[in-house]
Amino acid sequence: MRLIILGPPGAGKGTQAVRIAQRLGVPQLSTGEMLRAAVQAGTEVGMQARAVMEGGALVPDHIVLRIVAERIEAPDTRQRFILDGFPRTISQAVGLDDLLAVAGGKLDMVLEIRVEQDVLLDRIVNRAAEAARRGEPVRKDDSPETLRSRLHVYAEETAPLVDYYDRRGLLRSVDGLQPIEAVAYQLRTIVDLALGEELCRDRITGKHE
Ligand code: AMP
Repeated sequence: MRLIILGPPGAGKGTQAVRIAQRLGVPQLSTGEMLRAAVQAGTEVGMQARAVMEGGALVPDHIVLRIVAERIEAPDTRQRFILDGFPRTISQAVGLDDLLAVAGGKLDMVLEIRVEQDVLLDRIVNRAAEAARRGEPVRKDDSPETLRSRLHVYAEETAPLVDYYDRRGLLRSVDGLQPIEAVAYQLRTIVDLALGEELCRDRITGKHE
C-alpha cells in the first residue's frame, strides 16, 4: 500500500504516520527527518537545506524530489510506504506521480489530518515546551516566529494538494482536533477498509489464488 499523510505543521502527522507504518509493517518516509539527518551529517544536501529549514521555508523541489526518488527505489519501499511531509507542493506531487508511473505503481490513498491554523500555534509551542521539559532537543523550527511562516507556507503551497488529491478520489480526511487516540482510530478504520477492499479485488482478479 502506498500512502501519503497530509496536514499542517503540528497536526500530528508524524505521530500518526509512525503508528500506521508499524501497524501495516510499511516503511515511514519523512522528508523532514531525512533532511534533518542530512543537516546533521553535513552532506551537500544538508548544507543547502539548513538555513531554509531554520527559517521555516521549503527546501527546493528538485532537492526533495531527488532524496525521495533515491529512497523509494530501494527494495523495501518499491511497493509500500507511507510518506510523511511529502509532497508539499503541486510540483512535488506531479514529480511523485511521474516517479511512480516509471516504477509501474500508483498511490492508494492520501490521509489528511485537518486542523484549524490558530490551534496549531498553541500546539507547537506546547510541543517545544514539553520536549524542553523532558530534556530533549527542541527543533529550531518549532519557535512561534518560524511556525507562523511554516503555517503561511502550508496555506500557500501545500493546502492546494487537498484539492489535487480530492479530485482524483484519493483523499480521506480526519478531524485532527480530536484526541490523538480518536484520530488514530479513525485513520486505522479508513486504512483497514481500504485493505479489505484491496483484498476483495485481488480475490476477484485471482491475484491471491
Ligand atoms: P517536517 O519535519 O515535515 O515538519 O519538515 C521540517 C522542514 O523540512 C520543513 O519546514 C521544510 O523546511 C523541510 N521539508 C520537509 N519536507 C519537505 C518537502 N517535502 N519539501 C520542502 N521542504 C521540506
